[in-house]
Amino acid sequence: MLKIAIQKSGRLSEKSLELLAEAGINVANSDRKLVAQASNFPIALLYLRDDDIPQCVYDGVADVGVVGENVLLETGYKLDVVERLGFGKCRMSLAIPKSEKYDGIAWFNGRKIATSYPKILQDFLNKNSVQASIHHISGSVEISTGVGIADAIFDIVSSGSTLISNGLKEVDVALHSEAVMVGKRAQLEQEPEKIATLEKLMFRLQAVQKGRKSKYVMLNAPAASVEKIISVIPGMKSPTVVPLAQEGWCSVHSVLPEGQIWEIIDQLHSLGAQGILVMPIEKMIL
Ligand code: ATP
Ligand code: ZN
Repeated sequence: MLKIAIQKSGRLSEKSLELLAEAGINVANSDRKLVAQASNFPIALLYLRDDDIPQCVYDGVADVGVVGENVLLETGYKLDVVERLGFGKCRMSLAIPKSEKYDGIAWFNGRKIATSYPKILQDFLNKNSVQASIHHISGSVEISTGVGIADAIFDIVSSGSTLISNGLKEVDVALHSEAVMVGKRAQLEQEPEKIATLEKLMFRLQAVQKGRKSKYVMLNAPAASVEKIISVIPGMKSPTVVPLAQEGWCSVHSVLPEGQIWEIIDQLHSLGAQGILVMPIEKMIL
């Protein structure tokens, strides 16, 4: 039985469960007791506070865990990242009152910075040869400058709106974080059954993730333009081209990377493509 620690409730919980559900793993546990077993896969879920997940995996209470890289780095446990999961994206940034003139990282020399992430901050300051004092607080970091307990803050930022509403401006990014699956590879390799389950799970998670990063595109094009159209679409292997009932027209099907979809569509459109359909892909196995 492979034990997976996930966040009990918070920003990563729903997304972690969603990913497992899309990988076909059924966990019936509406009241989220501490442990829940999957009905169709040799997996048990442990619901924990995210801060406790790295230690649990390190101590072997769980075999793998889903946690933000920020929490992993802050707790300092040496674990292997088995898979990057593509959700829970955020950055850890330094911010100062917006009225301050910022002239580079040396601004922080001799200043006081409030944060809940003293380790990540100290590592970043050391790397940049900045000497500042760190004021460790566990919450409401964003109000620290307003109430006069610090000159600056170091905190998680996603949209930046919390900073703005507290009269702050983001001046430097120390870390880009996302949810990762962590484990102790050397330990897992000694347990063939667990590693087999993990590999099976990874295969499914990767299929779901690849699907999320791609779109299935279908379009109609005059036969004379098909060659040019194919040249702008980076297909999975090669695009499918099917003749249409209407003479001189073809239908082209392919898989496109989500991030480039609009640029490619613009090009396809200008090459005479019509009836362009873009559809989500649930799973993708190459
Ligand atoms: P717990 O009760 O489990 O200790 P928490 O309050 O410490 O939860 P959450 O706020 O649920 O943690 O955030 C969990 C993780 O989500 C963060 O550590 C970070 O990796 C990620 N995350 C993504 N976007 C944000 C954001 N805007 N603010 C905070 N965390 C974010
Ligand atoms: Zn936490």
